[in-house]
Amino acid sequence: MKTDVLVIGGGPAGMSAALSASQNNSKVVLVERDHVLGGILNQCIHNGFGLHYFKEELTGPEFAHRFREMVEKDKNIKVLTNTLVTTFGEKKVSVIGEKGAFDISFKACIVAMGCRERTAGNINLNGTRPMGVITAGTAQKMVNIDGKMVGKDVVILGSGDIGLIMARRLTLEGARVHAVFEINSTSSGLRRNILQCLDDFNIPLYYNTTIFEVVGKDRVEGVYYGEVDEHFNKKEETKKFLKCDTVILSVGLIPEMQNLTDIKVNPKTNGAFVNEHYQTNKPWMFSCGNILHVHDLVDNVALEGKQVGLFASLYAQNKLNDGNLIEVKHSSDFAYVLPYTLFEGDEDVEMKFRLKNKIVRKWIKVVSEGKEVAKKFVLAGVPGEMMTISFSKKGVKKEVVLEVE
Ligand SMILES: Cc1cc2nc3c(=O)[nH]c(=O)nc-3n(C[C@H](O)[C@H](O)[C@H](O)COP(=O)(O)OP(=O)(O)OC[C@H]3O[C@@H](n4cnc5c(N)ncnc54)[C@H](O)[C@@H]3O)c2cc1C
Repeated sequence: MKTDVLVIGGGPAGMSAALSASQNNSKVVLVERDHVLGGILNQCIHNGFGLHYFKEELTGPEFAHRFREMVEKDKNIKVLTNTLVTTFGEKKVSVIGEKGAFDISFKACIVAMGCRERTAGNINLNGTRPMGVITAGTAQKMVNIDGKMVGKDVVILGSGDIGLIMARRLTLEGARVHAVFEINSTSSGLRRNILQCLDDFNIPLYYNTTIFEVVGKDRVEGVYYGEVDEHFNKKEETKKFLKCDTVILSVGLIPEMQNLTDIKVNPKTNGAFVNEHYQTNKPWMFSCGNILHVHDLVDNVALEGKQVGLFASLYAQNKLNDGNLIEVKHSSDFAYVLPYTLFEGDEDVEMKFRLKNKIVRKWIKVVSEGKEVAKKFVLAGVPGEMMTISFSKKGVKKEVVLEVE
């Protein structure tokens, strides 16, 4: 099969990118391994999606449905569901699916394969391996799609958004969620989720605290937990036992990069290094959504997909202009700032970033050659929330640096 733009992954990033590439006059093939488009949104049945993009509060499936309808109506987009991309080659991929095994060649490709969850093995969770230790996303799928409860007495490790949402979800389904343990001194989840999913249900969140050991033979019988110091060493004197039958893990997401061995990866995000056009080190390969960096709001995922669909389409038509590269740097206050390089020009650009630590009443500044290019006042910023700053590149010739003042 041949196409102008191939999009891999039919979640919100991929659907939005496919629509945008098509609207910019490219023929698009959209490949999704699941039987239906929508990605992880299909299992997120709670509300809170779409406030920015659609100016309406939707559930995950509603948000996905709106995009799915637009994709299905678009004559320039060929959708292949139940189809898995197995191997990446030079401007072609191999897939296996309902129509058998075949190759798809393209002029540009957008990788939008999302994330997978970190497991007990990934974090070297100590103790026995009984039934009842489960990642938050798997628990979400079991409860929301398969209609199966995962346990009655639950402990959640990690305060990422999926864990917070599952604390509320399991409570509403009749489970008792005893505690959320977070090894860091701040949560990686959104503040609104801490209020609406924990505080509203009197579920305690313990910071600087982790599970020391899981106990149980066939099924989880409880956990030993306790505090950690600033180097994450266990404070044995704080160790306590909590009886429970289920441990839900919400300990981070890993971008689905394992098939992309030739792509340069930023160890901070585990996603690709991309320039202002979201091009990886292979100029025909673009990246967006959670595979690039973990987003907290799906609205931002859709907006990023739209932007990247345009760039990939222009590349496929040999119309994507680059120029002199400008490097992007940042002070140690930031976990990462993306994109990693800009092109010299007059356009506006939006930088996305996460902070390393909480800041209160500070300025975020963009500086180039000692001159201030942009600044933004932040009343309160936390690592759990992705932030942005926009500025015009007019007159910017050398590296830009993001700082906190
Ligand atoms: C378990 C979980 C729960 C979440 N819950 C929330 C929430 O409640 N609220 C919220 O705002 N955000 C939530 N998020 C964040 C959410 O992932 C993003 O907001 C958004 O869905 C990311 O969109 P995406 O398109 O980048 O990835 P995804 O939605 O993950 O879509 C990626 C798609 O790529 C497909 N794919 C992957 N590899 C291949 C391959 N090799 N071949 C073909 N297809 C492939 C997958 O099947 C999937 O459909 C959650 C994330 C996870 C992992």
